[in-house]
Amino acid sequence: MAIHDYIRKRFFPHLWCPGCGHGTVLNGLVRAIDDLKIRKNDIVMVSGIGCSSRITGYVDAHTLHTLHGRALAFATGVKMSRPELHVIVPMGDGDALAIGGNHFIHAARRNIDITALVMNNQVYGMTGGQFSPMSDTGSRATTAPLGSVDPPFDVVKMATAAGASYVARTTVFHVRQMITLITEAIRHKGFSVVEIMSQCPTYYGRKNDLGSAADMLEAFRDHTAPVGSAALAETPGLIARGVFVNEDRPEYCEAYRRRAAEIKARGGA
Ligand code: SF4
Ligand code: MG
Repeated sequence: MAIHDYIRKRFFPHLWCPGCGHGTVLNGLVRAIDDLKIRKNDIVMVSGIGCSSRITGYVDAHTLHTLHGRALAFATGVKMSRPELHVIVPMGDGDALAIGGNHFIHAARRNIDITALVMNNQVYGMTGGQFSPMSDTGSRATTAPLGSVDPPFDVVKMATAAGASYVARTTVFHVRQMITLITEAIRHKGFSVVEIMSQCPTYYGRKNDLGSAADMLEAFRDHTAPVGSAALAETPGLIARGVFVNEDRPEYCEAYRRRAAEIKARGGA
């Protein structure tokens, strides 16, 4: 199957703004799925609301476009009933860590075999450029015209602390690394999180004088460094990218079914 066979071409042209990073994530995601040779019928993509969440509409698999912040709750239901399917949840930073933060930490705690792609553009794009829990302190947004005073979350630390068994970070500038990390995350048995730093030139970039989409991409190149690199140790302020957690831990659906089988064997209902 070719890459474009995974795309619902009837929904194109897509609705993302010129220069938006989310199209690069769509490209990386379908390439990862193609590398893994997963049948379209074995994929369920679940999303909430937001520019990032529109990805599910463009992938020709089983797709659910659900409520804002509730994608992981729907995805948990799907995975519990059909554990043999690959469940992938693309989310924005607000969707994953604001209204959906509760579902995020508990999906990680359970280590349920779902892949969460957190497309972090540090802003609520679709609803008009409000600041999100990932906006840098001092950054300007529709709801913070003079600069936000909120400190941002660190997705990697949050996912790690909550118990995700695979945690990684990359950017839309680092496309090859992004494809590799998404591939590993889908293959991983357990809750896997890939934070993908993505640019929103329309709101975050424009309001914070970050230049064009190309300038924002170059900033991802210049302000990140591989985990364990000398550059990361020597240069204050660089953001680490790569794999932070990759562990084998009991997976939730398997543990649930094991427990049910034990109860049945003892004559339970
Ligand atoms: Fe992308 Fe921002 Fe436009 Fe949404 S508003 S499509 S995140 S550039
Ligand atoms: Mg966002």
